[in-house]
Amino acid sequence: MKNLHNLLMLALFTPALYANTPVQPLPLSPQLAYQLVESLTTEVGPRIAGSPGDRASVQWATSQMKSLGFDKVWTEEFVTPYWQRGQARLEVLTPFPQSLVLTALGGSVGTPANGIDATVVQFDSLEALLAAKPEQVKDKIVFINKAMTKDRAGSQYGKVVGARAKGAVDAARLGAKALIIRSVGTSANRFAHTGKMSYDPAVPKIPAVAISAPDAQQLARILQKAPEAKLKLQMDNQQTEDAISHNVIGEITGSERPDEIVLIGAHLDSWDQGTGALDDGAGVGLVMATAALLKKEGQPKRTIRVVLYGNEEGGLVGARAYAARHAKELSKHVLASESDFGAGRIWRFETRFGASALPFAKQIQQQLAPLGIEAGGNDAFGGPDVSVLKALGVPVVTLEQDGTDYFDYHHTPNDTLDKVDPAALEQNLQAWLIMTRAVANSALDLRK
Ligand SMILES: [Zn+2]
Repeated sequence: MKNLHNLLMLALFTPALYANTPVQPLPLSPQLAYQLVESLTTEVGPRIAGSPGDRASVQWATSQMKSLGFDKVWTEEFVTPYWQRGQARLEVLTPFPQSLVLTALGGSVGTPANGIDATVVQFDSLEALLAAKPEQVKDKIVFINKAMTKDRAGSQYGKVVGARAKGAVDAARLGAKALIIRSVGTSANRFAHTGKMSYDPAVPKIPAVAISAPDAQQLARILQKAPEAKLKLQMDNQQTEDAISHNVIGEITGSERPDEIVLIGAHLDSWDQGTGALDDGAGVGLVMATAALLKKEGQPKRTIRVVLYGNEEGGLVGARAYAARHAKELSKHVLASESDFGAGRIWRFETRFGASALPFAKQIQQQLAPLGIEAGGNDAFGGPDVSVLKALGVPVVTLEQDGTDYFDYHHTPNDTLDKVDPAALEQNLQAWLIMTRAVANSALDLRK
C-alpha cells in the first residue's frame, strides 16, 4: 500500500502541475524578502529533499526569479536520498505509564513493527557514552541528556549536535537497541527538534529519536525514581536512495565582468514538520531580494549569482553537486556567502579574504556600521553550503545574524512565518544589499 500511495502522490504532484501556476508579481520594495518568505512558506510549505514539496519549491523559485527580472534562471539536477517520516510513539511502560513527545531524527530507520521494549541507560553527553563499557549499554535504550544554552552566535550548537549526528553509531557499537537524545534546542516548549543523523555501514542501524526538553527532564526524573523503568519505542520511517532534487540558480549578468561571479546563497529545502520559515525560507527571501533589488539599481559590474541549494539538511548534498559541476569555474567565483541562520538582525561582519583585500573588508564594514553592525575577524564560516566552496579556496563573508532565539524553533513544527520579524528582516536585507553591491561593483581580487 505504501508504494501505491507514493506512486499516487508522485502522479498528483508532478512538476508539470506547478509549471503553469501563475506567480503573483511582487513589488521591488524593501519588504521583498519578507514577501518571498511569506509566499514560499504559504504556497509551498514543508519541502524535505525528494518530496513533492521539494519539487514544488523548485517550481516556485524558478517562477519567482523569472518574475523578479533575473537575466538567467536554470536548475541543476542531482540524485539524493529521500527520507520519509512515519508514525512514531515513545511510551514509558513501567512503572509510571505515559507517553513522551518525540520526533524521529532525519535518516533514522524505524523499529520492528511491534516496537522495541527495553530499559534505559542515561548519559550526560556523547563523550560519557564513548567512555562506557558494552555491559552497561547492551540491549538497552541509550538516552543522551545534554542541554543546550542560547547565545547570539549560536555557539553551543556545535558542542551538542554530535549526539544527534553520531550518537546512534556509538550507541549501537556498544550493543544498544535504540537512541534517545534530548532535543538539540533551547526552548522549554514541548516540541522535539529533528535533524540529520548518520549511520556507519560497519555498525548495526538502530532507531534514533529526539524528545523535547521538558520530556527529557521528565524522563530523567523517572529514571532517578525508577532506574529499571521500561520504555517502548515504535517508529515507521522509509528511505529511498535515488530520488531527484535540484539546485535553483538565477543570475543578474555583470555589465563589465560577466564571467566573474559573486555567489549569494541559501538552501531551498527544509525539514518536514514546520514550514521552514527561519530555516531557511528567510535566507531564500534575502538573497533573491538582494539580487532583484540590485538589478533595479542598474546592472552590476560583476555577475550576481543566486544559488538556492537543494538538500542542505540531508548533508550538503546540493552543495557538493554544485561544487562538482562548477569545478572548472571556481576560480571565477570572486566571493560566496550564504544566509542560513534565521531571520534576525545582522550584528557582525566577518570575512575570509587575502591580506591585501582586508582594507576593502574594512570599507564594507564601515558602510554596514550605521545598521549597528560591528567588525568581525577574517576567519568567516560563510554558511553551511558555501563552506564547500570555501574549502576549495573561494573567498567568503558572513553577515552574522542574531541567533539568540533561533534554536528555540530550529527543526521543529514551530518553525513558521510568525517567527519572522519583518523589521529585523529588512535590516538584514539592507546589509546584504550593501555587501553584495560593494563586491559586485569592485574589480578587486579578494583571494590576494
Ligand atoms: Zn538551514
